[in-house]
Amino acid sequence: PKYLIGLTGGIGSGKTTVANLFAELGIELVDADIVARDVVAIGTRGLNQIASHFGKQILNQDGSLDRSALREIIFNQPKERIWVNGLLHPMIRTEMLNQLAATSSPYTILVAPLLFENELDKLVNRTLLIDISPSQQSQRTLSRDAVTSEQVEKIISSQAPRAEKLAKADDVIDNQGEISALKSKVIALHNNYLKWSNNS
Ligand code: ATP
Repeated sequence: PKYLIGLTGGIGSGKTTVANLFAELGIELVDADIVARDVVAIGTRGLNQIASHFGKQILNQDGSLDRSALREIIFNQPKERIWVNGLLHPMIRTEMLNQLAATSSPYTILVAPLLFENELDKLVNRTLLIDISPSQQSQRTLSRDAVTSEQVEKIISSQAPRAEKLAKADDVIDNQGEISALKSKVIALHNNYLKWSNNS
């Protein structure tokens, strides 16, 4: 049985930054967002089903999924959202479990922005939250991405509230300080995870 850490945090909190530090220590990562893209890649059963349900308008010229078209449909039509979720969620779960099972580091990290929201915390041994204030989330996301503050606020409010995630997480990395402060925090957790994965 593999020891699994679920790494989460809101938009712009520093998940990728922290995950990369674990990767530098030799820990393998599975990224829930990448898995969610994998199951609708060209040639997958996921994409074929979506194309036969919604028609060719849901595809780009090159045959890939037109994500903004799908987002639009899902946003406006609850029934279609339920259909799409019913199709993709089991596929995502299976593919995630396959990718996790294929890793060989002492423990594995599942990086998932919506770990608690999608109840993926039930799949892992321990949860790690990257925590910053909502105003820092906006600040850092706005300086990274070409988005408006309205778009960022909308995403922040669609994710579980900070307090709820803090209450649920087993471990928390406070990322409100400098990036350079992260490394020693990651190493301290890494040493614990190695110990616990050995005993599990
Ligand atoms: P998302 O969920 O939106 O993909 P994320 O949680 O993966 O975001 P990162 O991409 O790691 O977050 O970090 C968001 C931005 O903030 C990046 O540009 C990153 O370089 C920067 N950043 C991360 N930590 C800090 C920090 N402590 N101080 C300043 N900037 C930081």
